[in-house]
Amino acid sequence: MDLRVCHIYPDLMCIYGDRGNVIALTQRARWRGIDAEVRELHEGEALEPEWADLYFFGGGQDLGQDVVSRDLQGPNGAALRRALASGAAVLSVCGGYQLLGREYVPAEGPSIAGLGALDVTTRAGKVRFVGNLLAEAPQGTLIGFENHSGYTYLGPAARPLARVIVGHGNNGQDKTEGAVQGRIVGTYCHGSVLPKNPWLADMLLLWALERRHDAVRLEPLDDAMELAAQRSAAEVARTRP
Ligand code: GLN
Repeated sequence: MDLRVCHIYPDLMCIYGDRGNVIALTQRARWRGIDAEVRELHEGEALEPEWADLYFFGGGQDLGQDVVSRDLQGPNGAALRRALASGAAVLSVCGGYQLLGREYVPAEGPSIAGLGALDVTTRAGKVRFVGNLLAEAPQGTLIGFENHSGYTYLGPAARPLARVIVGHGNNGQDKTEGAVQGRIVGTYCHGSVLPKNPWLADMLLLWALERRHDAVRLEPLDDAMELAAQRSAAEVARTRP
């Protein structure tokens, strides 16, 4: 069994340690004896929709999002939609999350078109949300760090990833954080999010492996250190929001 991960736009969309999510995913596979290969896709290169089991789409500034949005309006957008339709999983963080939605309307300038793979819409808000983000998902605690001025609103086809306990999450109003739709996950948690939230890492890893392999079963790992880091970060979020 092997895992194939494509890190898309790593130069334009990878802030606040988001690259650590790719490291966490591949390491959790390798700890289980599963080979893992990572390829990168940069703006202007051709995305190969059949290869990857999972795509990682990190956060970025409005300027980078503009460039990436244009690239996704071309053949790469159609290829990524095809990949998702064929069962590939995605973890998208902040700016990447916004661009998988229908559109991102920045504070100035024209709307930035999204891929439309996630039923969410983002509009720039007056207050930038910066700080620790603690939320509760059905699968467990979600802890991270948020920094975004985009406020994201879910449509009927998407469901929240988690409920906000401390911080702002999607829009600072409806207490939702992130979105899940099929095997697509969006979150505002930078950090990187996966090392301290092993349940999310393994959920994505399972979805990714199920794309090409039957009867996938992930052996449990000793997550004592990861969960201690999660508890510690959650405590900081609770006492120093
Ligand atoms: N530019 C987007 C915003 O400010 C995304 C920021 C990010 O990815 N951290 O909402």
